[in-house]
Amino acid sequence: MGSRSSSLNNVPNGQELQQQTGFSAAHLLRLYERFQFLDKDNRGHLRPEDFEAVLELSENPIGDRIVEAFFKPGQETVDFPSFVRVLAHFRPTEKNRNRDKGQPDPANSRTQKLKFAFRLYDRDRDGKISRAELLQVLREMLGMQVTEEQLQSIAERAIQEADLDKDGAISFDEFRKSLEKVNIDHKMSIRFLE
Ligand code: CA
Ligand code: CA
Repeated sequence: MGSRSSSLNNVPNGQELQQQTGFSAAHLLRLYERFQFLDKDNRGHLRPEDFEAVLELSENPIGDRIVEAFFKPGQETVDFPSFVRVLAHFRPTEKNRNRDKGQPDPANSRTQKLKFAFRLYDRDRDGKISRAELLQVLREMLGMQVTEEQLQSIAERAIQEADLDKDGAISFDEFRKSLEKVNIDHKMSIRFLE
């Protein structure tokens, strides 16, 4: 590990990030190289427009939402540690990971992944996916392929199925239950991480 950890010294908060996120030293180094590549002017942070160079995101119909997730509300820049903490949600879930006592739920746990996905829908962050918010995501994802009428009926059916307390919106618990049988690792992967 000697040479690896010495090269990790070049990575801001390297050791700490390795512990927090579970990324290997080699993986963190690679992510740092990607970060520096995106940080063209060497400012030490990224702005939303820097993510345009990530083809996979710029081609993703909800790529803007994913990019937005890198930024805390009201902030226009993201530094390397925050960048890595967000990317950690996309690591495959480790079923048998030995967790240290007192450690919070890791970012790649199923619950944290679902919370991340939920926030992509819950634009106003009120803890619920409203009909309008769901409709907007569906519109972005399906776009031209379907009519507005079809979109409405898809949204309607999704809400009816998920909305257990019948308040007309989807809470996180309802979201989680409705995705119980879905392989979230499969849905949440970014090749950029490889
Ligand atoms: Ca909402
Ligand atoms: Ca509900």
